[in-house]
Amino acid sequence: MEVKVIEAAPEQRKPKPPSESQLGFGKIFTDHFFTMTWNSGEGWHDPVVEPYHPLQIDPTAMCLHYGQEIFEGMKAYRGKDGHGVYLFRPTENIKRMNVSAERLCMPQIEEKLFMEALEKLLSVDQDWIPRSEGSSLYIRPTMIATERALGVHPSNEYLFFIIMSPVGAYYAEGFSPTRIYVTEEYIRSAPGGIGYCKAAGNYAASLYANEIAKKIGYTQVLWLDAMERKYVEEVGTSNIFFLINDELITPPLSGTILPGITRNSIIQLAKKWGMHVSERKLSMDEITASIANGAMQEAFAAGTAAVVSPVGWIFYRDHEYALAEGKIGKLTRRLYDEILNIQYGIQEDSFGWRVKILN
Ligand SMILES: *Cc1c(COP(=O)(O)O)cnc(C)c1O
Repeated sequence: MEVKVIEAAPEQRKPKPPSESQLGFGKIFTDHFFTMTWNSGEGWHDPVVEPYHPLQIDPTAMCLHYGQEIFEGMKAYRGKDGHGVYLFRPTENIKRMNVSAERLCMPQIEEKLFMEALEKLLSVDQDWIPRSEGSSLYIRPTMIATERALGVHPSNEYLFFIIMSPVGAYYAEGFSPTRIYVTEEYIRSAPGGIGYCKAAGNYAASLYANEIAKKIGYTQVLWLDAMERKYVEEVGTSNIFFLINDELITPPLSGTILPGITRNSIIQLAKKWGMHVSERKLSMDEITASIANGAMQEAFAAGTAAVVSPVGWIFYRDHEYALAEGKIGKLTRRLYDEILNIQYGIQEDSFGWRVKILN
């Protein structure tokens, strides 16, 4: 199966954003997108890169009623001195999307076809990849159920599409430690659920607690486990790490946590640096005790959008705790620099994480 390319006519093309410093996140989209459809008779067919346009789906399309919708988030980077276009561990995103697809009874996508779609889409829209330091092109592969029917069952038709958005340096004004709010009342995921999938429903379920946090001045929610409301799981839509007594701790992948690619990269880097890294349960009691006795050194969130994001303050049971005096920890800074330098080709990539997609 060949990916067809239909290039946008000059009048279908959008003006490029005037200033890369004002890109923000997820507001501007490129001139093209990739689409392909699936049905139970033909499997995936008609893969095409075409001019970006609104989708037409029936009001009964099953994704709108029963939530069969999954996605991924990855980035393309221009190499040093503007040479080449690179992705960071893209096959990990493809594998994870297929894991999400399996859990939601959606069809698998072959890695080779997925990579060809990315390559052809990036090729026609390469002028959209920003050039300024720290900027990149965010890529959002998405799959939705499109069968026209009510009644709960796995859809017989799907649409897969990939859209792309130029994004500025996440920390345009510099690193600023975030304020996080621990909720004991709400959870994002429970054992046996879909917490390990990048499925739309997980994000809908997280909004309510996040609004509560925002109302009292916190940027993100720190989620606890569903069973005991005791152990930390994730922060907002990122994985969480704590450095306590020189032990780098992150919760284990027990099915309720999204297996972040940034999380995995941090674990591998920290181990390479000879650090003591633990994937283990970490309770709020241990966290508050280690803040009280001075063992807590730093905490940060990890995900593709921001890479790492320092945690400055934690609100838990009517108390606000400051971490690293609300400053950026040394390890947080080192990981951020190291991962960005690998992504942009400034530093040697000893793990082979960088994949050249265009020359
Ligand atoms: C995407 C995501 C992450 C981070 O994953 P990366 O692969 O590092 O981007 C963590 N938690 C949740 C809930 C996510 O959706």
